[in-house]
Amino acid sequence: MKKHANVAIFVPHQGCPGECVFCDQRAISGGSEAPSPHDVVRLLEEGKRTLGPRVGEAEIAFFGGSFTAIDPEYRKSLLMAAEPYLGKDSYAGIRVSTRPDAVDRKILVELKGRGVTAIELGAQSMDNTVLIAAGRGHTARHTEEASRLIKEAGFSLGLQMMTGLPGDSDEGALETARRFIALKPDTVRIYPALVLKGTRLEELYRAGSYTPQSLREAVSLCARLLGEFTGAGVRVIRLGLHAGESLARRIAAGPWHPALRDLAEGEVMLKKARLAVALLKPGPVELFVEPGGESRMAGQRRVNLRALEDMGYPAVIRPHPGLGYLQVMAADGK
Ligand code: SF4
Repeated sequence: MKKHANVAIFVPHQGCPGECVFCDQRAISGGSEAPSPHDVVRLLEEGKRTLGPRVGEAEIAFFGGSFTAIDPEYRKSLLMAAEPYLGKDSYAGIRVSTRPDAVDRKILVELKGRGVTAIELGAQSMDNTVLIAAGRGHTARHTEEASRLIKEAGFSLGLQMMTGLPGDSDEGALETARRFIALKPDTVRIYPALVLKGTRLEELYRAGSYTPQSLREAVSLCARLLGEFTGAGVRVIRLGLHAGESLARRIAAGPWHPALRDLAEGEVMLKKARLAVALLKPGPVELFVEPGGESRMAGQRRVNLRALEDMGYPAVIRPHPGLGYLQVMAADGK
């Protein structure tokens, strides 16, 4: 799957009145101060130099979670600093992330006029009891309404979900995925909940009233979610938080792994390979995957190949240009 190289600019929502149990803005945004328009220019210049000719595929991404709820004059100054970097020989567009209850027609007109092309909503769950327990302050209805407005206004829609929040379950997360798919998002991000130091979730965890997902549980659920989204033609552009050093220091507990996505993809492919080889007689087999997907099929430290061998199917993996992301075919290898 092709990776997009965005230039991410974190815009912490200082003074956010929200009470999300999992949130520690400073940890997620690397402890950064609010960027100035000058910082935006510097980061975009640096990005252009690093990306070279690939800059035309990259987006300018204002992340932090509440872009439409920050001070309007400050927001305008950031977007105006980014605007000259759009267009021919420069960045492909601007991506912002925000809360589902901070979207209305007026703000969408403003964003459209300033070159924003994609909006991501921190929906987290489509189960209102989970949203209440997480202190989100919005409902699934807000996500549905905001998604509709964003699509109608011609933006690319991104939806972000969390797994393992208090009161959630695997079935609940799968139901969230199905309700996301009904909203026809262009992209999805999946974040297993982590217990960050200094958050309400840490207090619950220390008091014994919250148990985070184990890594195994998170990988297994993420594999199922990946299967749901990919099967519905929705691109999962991120799985698991990208941890800079600052975040790594602030994790108190939870299913963090630097290659969480690789683990989940490997699990999806092993499941598909098992189904495919089950139609063959035990013995050597050839597994066909998309070109470049061979290591994904083999799994970390070739764990998938060992599992298939244990089933009686020693396998070699071959690229097949007709296959796409996470697709697997098997043939007799004799
Ligand atoms: S996650 Fe919640 S508390 Fe944190 S910045 Fe966003 S709305 Fe505010």
